[in-house]
Amino acid sequence: SPAIAALAYHDGEFVPLERALVPVTTQALQYGTGVFEGIRAYVQVDGGLAIFRAHDHYRRLLRSSRTLRIEVGKSAEELCDLTVELLRRIEATEDTYIRPLAYKRALLPGERPGVQLLGVSDALSVNAFRMGSYTDPAGISCSIASWRRPASDVLPVRAKVTGGYVNNALAVDEARAAGHDDAILLNSRGHVAEASTSNVFAVVGGRLVTPPATADLLEGITRDTVVTLAADLLDVATDFHDLGRDDLLNADEVFLTGTGSEIVPVTRIAGRNVGDGVPGPLTTALMTAYQDVVRGKDRRYHHWLQAVHPA
Ligand code: PMP
Repeated sequence: SPAIAALAYHDGEFVPLERALVPVTTQALQYGTGVFEGIRAYVQVDGGLAIFRAHDHYRRLLRSSRTLRIEVGKSAEELCDLTVELLRRIEATEDTYIRPLAYKRALLPGERPGVQLLGVSDALSVNAFRMGSYTDPAGISCSIASWRRPASDVLPVRAKVTGGYVNNALAVDEARAAGHDDAILLNSRGHVAEASTSNVFAVVGGRLVTPPATADLLEGITRDTVVTLAADLLDVATDFHDLGRDDLLNADEVFLTGTGSEIVPVTRIAGRNVGDGVPGPLTTALMTAYQDVVRGKDRRYHHWLQAVHPA
């Protein structure tokens, strides 16, 4: 289990993690009015530590926060610098997971709690903990959730909003209760949206396909990395088009992409083997390419890595 680092950046200062607390009156706790990110830092091939695509994650955090009228009060660059400082202060030397959270804070004492966004003050917290790869390279089993991914006129699904994850939690819970590892959610139109905390790719008739942003999914940074690496390194173009449940059941390969889970082969869906029931060749090639990039082995993508400290 991941060891918790001793420090968090919380309300403008670095404090011991046990002091990074919020009052029970915090609006985000009561109504889910927060936005967050998950970012990874990787031990590099030369022994140093670097954060992968930190700037892209913080740009998404700032976009998410605009939707909820949360003033983070820092630029993406400043957030990157703050994160580097946090990792240096906790003397991180192993693979690390970084969790920034910007949220609507406590209402003033005596104030009537309300669900408004305007006029509620904002807060920022960033914590980090040691976390290596946790997904099974041999592949996982997914259900097709009975819970649908909310439509974009129900929730701002392209923003990474804390309250929206009730939907994801219910889908995972249902999947685990039925003996699966994760859930794939369809959107309200019955097309594949995404998995509980990752995007979905399928290899169908020799082509790499992933649902478009209009399928009510979070546009993952790992999804973008995979599209780029498939084109640059494997000469495989990605088709962005809607996938049905039957497309997944007939696919030769299916895999998930996300910062936390990285690239995960899906070898069973709804109790059936995907292809031969083992990770496919394109999935395996992308998994290798991804590790080479995040660990700084492939110099062409060094611009995606922000050094925390050298070897
Ligand atoms: N969809 C959801 C719902 C997620 O929580 C995540 C994880 N952030 C993703 C997709 C994948 O996004 P990323 O590759 O940027 O981590």
